[in-house]
Formats: sequence, structure tokens, C-alpha cells
Amino acid sequence: MKCRKCGRPAVINMRQHKLALCEEHFLEWVLEQTRRAIDRYHMFAPDDKVLVAVSGGKDSLSLWDVLLRLGYRAEGLYIKLGVEEGAYSDKSLGYVERFAAERGGVHFQVVDVKVTYGMSVLEVARARHRGHKACSVCGLIKRHIMNRVAYEGGYSCIATGHNLDDEVAVLMQNTLRWQVGYLARQSPVLPATHPRLARKVKPFVHLYERETAAYALVRGIDYIYDECPYAVGATTLFYKDLLNQLEERSPGAKLSFYLSFLRAREQGLTFTEQTRLELHDCPRCGQPTTAPGLCAFCRLWEN
Ligand code: AMP
Ligand code: ZN
Ligand code: ZN
Repeated sequence: MKCRKCGRPAVINMRQHKLALCEEHFLEWVLEQTRRAIDRYHMFAPDDKVLVAVSGGKDSLSLWDVLLRLGYRAEGLYIKLGVEEGAYSDKSLGYVERFAAERGGVHFQVVDVKVTYGMSVLEVARARHRGHKACSVCGLIKRHIMNRVAYEGGYSCIATGHNLDDEVAVLMQNTLRWQVGYLARQSPVLPATHPRLARKVKPFVHLYERETAAYALVRGIDYIYDECPYAVGATTLFYKDLLNQLEERSPGAKLSFYLSFLRAREQGLTFTEQTRLELHDCPRCGQPTTAPGLCAFCRLWEN
């Protein structure tokens, strides 16, 4: 297979685009796709300060790399959740640190949940949500910390590494159950609905997972391969597998499912959003909550 642009050997063939590219032109293509998504969905402007949430995985590290190469003011945030199984948190932080060091110490900060709040995610999940998976507590904690850091640091938005496979798996899940509230909100950009909540953007929404993996490989970005030990077997993995079977038979099915969904919504396919709940400011952290009193995050840490 040869690169469509220059005829040299291709490193990747993207069937959904009928496009094979060599190393150099693939890297160029990823940058261009990302830049276009940022502009098309009005994610952020060239001089905005962007907070990239980096987990040490291929998607978020590749995203950070792409944003830096595109010239954006992209700074990192790593949230240390305290997953001790397989030294998962220490290892993933190591990848983020090496990434930053190799780039002349680009700015990034670490929030260690245990050091800051007194308990690791698993500890607080055990204490609070007996019998529940740690993942929901983890999600709540990550969202809170991302919003806090973005607010305190004056960032215009938070960028996450979600790729097209992530988005389509969630879309499939929500569609099969007609979760209209979730469908109404699923978007490449989530606007800030409160001064303490940052805008959330996903510049990789048009890229397949195998493309972000190929990008990391070609760029020599070292990342943590393993899923979080608590997330293994998560239902989205099942949908990803299902969608890959569909893609195999019908190249482009994933991309077209996602883009048609966004288009249908733009063209007026609407979901009755729940009547907007009145928001109250949490007296401790200032982030909004739907009921008066402490927010769900602050309640986690009550003795
Ligand atoms: P996940 O929910 O693990 O699929 O991760 C989705 C996105 O959330 C990643 O691409 C990152 O941008 C961000 N993220 C996940 N875990 C962390 C973490 N520990 N620290 C900072 N950002 C994270
Ligand atoms: Zn080429
Ligand atoms: Zn609070």
C-alpha cells in the first residue's frame, strides 16, 4: 500500500476515508483533522489557555502533543486517583511526567486525591458507596477536580482525549435505551452552564481509536496500555467490540453513525430535555448543585 500523497510506503490505511498515508503525511493529516474539529465546533481560539486532562493513555497524551504542535497554549492536568492495583496510578503518572520532561517541561500539574482530600478514590468509594463500582465515584471526583483547576487557573476550557470510538460506544448505548437526556447532551463541546463549570471539549471526536494509537506509535509517545483495573469489563468495551464488527463489514459505519446523529440534532431532531433544575451554589466549594446544601462531591468527604 502506498501513500496517496507521495507514493512512499503507507503506515496506515483508513478504509472509512479510502486513504492510505505514509508516516509524514499521516502526522500532518492528524494535525489537520484536529485543527478542523476545533474550528468547526468552535472549541477554543488560538490564544486561549487550554487545560488538557491527561491520564497517561494514548488518547490524552496524543491530544496534548497535537495541541502543542498546533501552537496552542495547552497545559496538562493529571489527577492521581490512588489506584494501587498493579501500581496503576504511579505508572500512568510516570508516562505523563516523561512526556512533559521530553518536551522541555511543558507546564502540568498533578492533583493527588489522597493527599488533597484524605482518601483515595477506592477508599472513599468503599466508605460511601458500599457495593457500588468505584467508577461512578471516580467520575464524580474527576469532574469536580477538572472544574476546580480550570476555574482557579483561568483556563478557557478542559480538553479530554475522547475519540470517535468512545463517543460512538456511548451513543450506541444511549440510543438502545433511548436515554434522551444523555442524547441531548452528548456533544463535541459542552458549554459552561455555570461560572464554576468549565467548557468541555473533545478535539479528537473525528479520529478512530486505531488512528490515535497509530499517532502515538509514530510519534514515539510511550503510554500506559492497560485499562484501569476497576474499569475492566466496563459495558462500553462491549459496545466498542460490537461496533468494530459493524465497521469491519461496512467501513465508515462508526463515523457516519456519529456524524449523522450530530446532523440530525442540528436539523431539529430534539429531545425534550428535563426541565432545567434550579442550581444552588455549594457552600463549601462553590460549584453548582441541584439541591441546597453540600454538593455530591463535598458530601463524599463528610466523616
Ligand atoms: P476515560 O474516562 O478513562 O476513558 O478517560 C477519558 C478522558 O478523561 C481521557 O482521555 C482524559 O482526557 C481524561 N482523564 C481520564 N483519567 C484522567 C486522570 N486520571 N487525570 C486526568 N485526566 C484524565
Ligand atoms: Zn506520504
Ligand atoms: Zn461542594
